[in-house]
This record gives sequence, C-alpha cells and structure tokens, in this order.
Amino acid sequence: MASKFDLIVVGGGTSGLEAAKTAAENGLHVALVERKTHPAVVQRSCAQMFLMNMDSFYNERMYFSEATKKWIFPINNFSVNYAGNYRKFYGCHFIAPNARDRIEIGDYEANASEQGTAAVVFDKNVLLEGLYEEGRKAGVHYYLERNVTSATRVAGGVQVGTAEGDRLTATFCIAADGINSRLARISGLNRQRTFLFTAGSVSYYVAGVQFDRSEMICMGNAYDHKGGLGPVHFCMLPSVYRQDEYWLYINGDERLDFFINKSNFSPWFKKTEITHKRCAVINGWSPSPEPFLDNIVFVGDSCWFAEAENTGALMSGHRAANAVCEALHKGQPDRQGVANYISWWKKNWPETHNYRDFLCYAVFFRIFTEDELNYLHRVINKKLFWSMNPFNLYGHIVRGIAPHMDRICRERPELARKLEAFTPQTAVTMMKPATRIGFPAY
Ligand SMILES: Cc1cc2nc3c(=O)[nH]c(=O)nc-3n(C[C@H](O)[C@H](O)[C@H](O)COP(=O)(O)OP(=O)(O)OC[C@H]3O[C@@H](n4cnc5c(N)ncnc54)[C@H](O)[C@@H]3O)c2cc1C
Repeated sequence: MASKFDLIVVGGGTSGLEAAKTAAENGLHVALVERKTHPAVVQRSCAQMFLMNMDSFYNERMYFSEATKKWIFPINNFSVNYAGNYRKFYGCHFIAPNARDRIEIGDYEANASEQGTAAVVFDKNVLLEGLYEEGRKAGVHYYLERNVTSATRVAGGVQVGTAEGDRLTATFCIAADGINSRLARISGLNRQRTFLFTAGSVSYYVAGVQFDRSEMICMGNAYDHKGGLGPVHFCMLPSVYRQDEYWLYINGDERLDFFINKSNFSPWFKKTEITHKRCAVINGWSPSPEPFLDNIVFVGDSCWFAEAENTGALMSGHRAANAVCEALHKGQPDRQGVANYISWWKKNWPETHNYRDFLCYAVFFRIFTEDELNYLHRVINKKLFWSMNPFNLYGHIVRGIAPHMDRICRERPELARKLEAFTPQTAVTMMKPATRIGFPAY
C-alpha cells in the first residue's frame, strides 16, 4: 500500500519519537516506522542517566523542573514532559582495583547537600511511552513491527520501503534508526565516514547491592589473578527501579560471576539477585560531515560517533523536526530548506565534541597495570570538576593528574612515561583490534 506524508520518521527511539511528535504538533502529516512491537519496550542497554546540572553537553545545560514535570532545554528553547520516577546521584568515582582508593569527579558530599548539584537516572520506558502518546494525540501514524529496508530518492521526496511490503513516500525522511543505522548505510552516508570499531555491551540490573556513598557512578577494573579473565572492566550506577538495585555494565556472565563473588568488590554483593539483563552492539564511526543526504535528515545516534545519549537524541530530533516544518513552510523542500538544522548540528556536535577525546576516556585506564592504577588512584586526592560529558572527562582527569606529575616522575618514572606518551591518537590506535573484528558494511 502506498501512502504519502510530509515526513516519514524511521525509528521510534528517543530521537524519532521526539521528532515525529514535534512535527505532528506543528501540523505536518507524519508517519513513524518502528520495527519493535512498541517503542516504549526498552531492550537495549542504557544506563538511563541524564547529564544535567553539571557540565554542558552539545552546548546545552538541561535541567528538570519539578513544578512542571518537564526536562527543560533552555538554550534550545524547548521542553519534554516526563511523568516517571527519577533518582539522584552525586558524583562519578573511578575506583582502584583495591576497591578502596578513588579518583572523584564531583564533590559527593557537597552535591548530596541541599544546595548541591545532583544528576539523575530516569525511567526510559516512561519517557518513551509519554512521547509516543503525545505523538499519537497529535496525529502521528505509527507503523509498528515494520522493518525498514529501503529509502530511495524519488521525484518530490523520499520513498521508504519495509520488509513487510509497505511503500511510504514523503517530502522528507528523518533517519532515527540508531547507532547501527541502516539508512546511513544504504543512503551512502557511511561512505563519508571512517569505520572505527564494533563493541558488544552487556548490562545487568543487580538488586541487593550495599556499599557506602552508593549514589554515584563508579567505574574501574577488577583483577582476576586465578581464573585468567584479565582486567574485568565495570561501570555501575543506581537504578531507577529499586533503591537497592544497580545497573552494572560488565561484559558477560563469567566476568559478572567473578566480579560479584570473587573480586575485591564482592563485599558489596553479599546477597544479590540479577533482575534483568540487556545488551547492545555498537558500530562506531567517525561523525558524518553533515547530518543530511538526499532529503534524509539524520538525528540521534544514526550519524554520530557512538552514543548521542538521550540528551542529544531529544535535541536533534526536536531541531530536525522544526527544520523540516520550516522547509515545507518556506516551500524549500531540499537541503537549503533544512540548512538551519545542518549548521546547528555541525556547530554543537562535531565542532565542539571531538570523538578522539571520547575514545581517550574509554581506554585511558586500560593502559596501566593493577599496581599503577592503585598508585594513581591514591595520588590524585583532589576532587575533580563535576562532569559526565564523555567528551570532556578525559580532559578533567588529565588536569587532575597534572599537579602530581613531579611526584609521579620521581616515584614512578615508568608510569610517568606512559602518561606522557598517551595521546588521542594512541587511543584511536588502541581501538584497532575492535576495528579488525568489526563489520564496516558500507
Ligand atoms: C551501554 C550503554 C549505556 C548508555 N547509557 C546512557 C545513559 O546513561 N544516558 C543516556 O542518555 N544515554 C545512554 N546511552 C545511549 C542512548 O541509549 C542512545 O544514545 C539513545 O537511545 C539514542 O537514541 P536514538 O533515538 O538515536 O536511537 P535508539 O534509541 O537506538 O532508537 C533507534 C530505534 O530505531 C529502530 N530501528 C532501527 N533500525 C530500524 C529499521 N530498519 N526499521 C525500523 N526501525 C528501526 C530501533 O528498533 C529503535 O527503536 C547508552 C547506550 C549504551 C549502549
């Protein structure tokens, strides 16, 4: 069946639902195509934190208004309704393998106080359900359980085809199909990008966890001296679903078993229960030169390096929908019509967020031995700038190490040499094994 729309949104994640709702509320005839049974069913790993009340992210400083139950994006001048629970957290701690010493990002005690600047974890199912419902009320036509397999430039716009036989046409298409975007591949956008890596991610919700200063994100490596697992990297933060529950990113059941039962961290997990498990596969590419090709406007993760996060997904979905409305209103249904979105994206994403800095933070603590890590975590005893922006974190850590370099050179010359030799390019080179096992599939 062929149907004609102003806009087809492919993908009903955070960016796609926000884009479809915004465009429909502004009077456009909108279709959203999603392959899942329902957009609000979250199966993919996501730690569900909002990077608010701290560093800026994509040059925005979002916050939550308790009075209106809205996430506010003051610089981009829009808001998103949210009726769900949230849970505050007060810092990010890199924890030494000895499970004791910490490099602290943010001042936990100050942030936990009345005047502090807490960030939150939120309930993604509720966020998505809310956006879905608002879109439905505004008239979005949802095509669920449809897998988009083609998007072709045709006279007057784009034709989108699904494996189930739908043929939909529209003046513009918004690609909101996530990190492994099929539209970025079949449209040819990925030919303008460099393939960087494939990474698998497994995360667990673990209930019954108990430890001090527990309302924070913690990351580190546990070392398995007997079982041969090598360094076991983990990231853990509070869950929004239960007070004693934590989201724990750790790659696989064997590592999880070691971490909670046999590592230096096992005292935190005396009586625990795994409540659920989620996974993700991430194909990382350099960001595309611009988020547009052949009347397809790209939003969220689809054209970005790794994760845009829900913050970036909401902002880009919102801005792209407004740009499409403007283009149609002006009678300029082409690249020039959505030029405002393209320039906003370039300025606030790749021009201010260098993906190499993100990679630095991702691999930095993996270049050291267990002993060196224990030493570094002990030496950096000053609380560092409160930020969870993954593009800025590495810079904050380097600035935290700098005042101690004389001492490190004196006491641990080999470690000092490693620190001095580490550059953004080293981080890219360190990703090469993950490039080789990857699936570039242009
Ligand atoms: C381990 C991990 C931890 C994370 N932690 C956080 C965090 O703490 N905070 C945060 O804000 N973000 C976090 N993120 C990132 C966040 O989940 C994403 O950046 C965000 O969901 C991107 O939204 P999106 O709409 O671009 O893509 P997605 O949410 O991935 O949505 C894409 C949608 O498109 C659909 N789709 C894909 N292909 C097709 C097709 N061919 N046909 C039809 N439909 C299709 C998918 O089913 C999906 O519903 C994390 C991600 C990972 C992997």
